[in-house]
Amino acid sequence: MTVIAAQIQAVRSRISAACLAAKRDPASVTLLAVSKTFSADAVRAAQAAGQTAFGENYIQEAVDKIVMLADLPLQWHCIGPIQSNKTRLVAQHFAWAQSVDRLKTAQRLSEQRPAELPPLQVCLQVNVDGGPTKSGVAPHEALALARAVAALPRLQLRGLMCIPDPQPDVESMQAVFQRARALYEELRDAGLALDTLSMGMTADLEAAIQAGSTMVRVGTAIFGGRGIGPA
Ligand SMILES: *Cc1c(COP(=O)(O)O)cnc(C)c1O
Repeated sequence: MTVIAAQIQAVRSRISAACLAAKRDPASVTLLAVSKTFSADAVRAAQAAGQTAFGENYIQEAVDKIVMLADLPLQWHCIGPIQSNKTRLVAQHFAWAQSVDRLKTAQRLSEQRPAELPPLQVCLQVNVDGGPTKSGVAPHEALALARAVAALPRLQLRGLMCIPDPQPDVESMQAVFQRARALYEELRDAGLALDTLSMGMTADLEAAIQAGSTMVRVGTAIFGGRGIGPA
């Protein structure tokens, strides 16, 4: 077994244990392997171990890998900031965009989604812990943005994504994730057909699953540390 295969198995065990503790079905949590800064060969090793969904932050780096790996049946998720000049690449190459936080970005993605592809699957990134410099829509603006995005023809709104800052203890971390969960339920109660709450990474996936995450985005625990540099 490759190191990557063993690490995927270990992450899947963590997810199962967290689901058991939360009395949830392990099948209700999707594992997204975050392959940013890692090579196409690392993605191939993960795919050989049964992993199909991959997340990338840096759009040009991602597109290079997506093109190199076009022979494999992979599902690519954009989880990094989407500048206006990058929307076309995202619309053309990804299955999902989880980091949409403005209507203008969503409109461009919808206009630029090629007609021969299925609708782009979208999550709104929400700034649940409220740092003023962080990306993500403010929670009180999420419902209006969700309604506007859900109306765009070439997008399918699936849910919410958040990246809260680490907290000093598990209880505080869970409280932040619970706020995201509450917002997700509020949007569903308002009639939006959402099925995805993307939260939890290597350090905090258990707390996220406890709070109701349906998709954890894991990089380090699968591929190793990214070292210094942009990450
Ligand atoms: C890098 C990244 C991850 C993965 O983080 P790890 O701590 O390496 O598991 C998840 N989500 C986003 C948005 C990221 O940028």
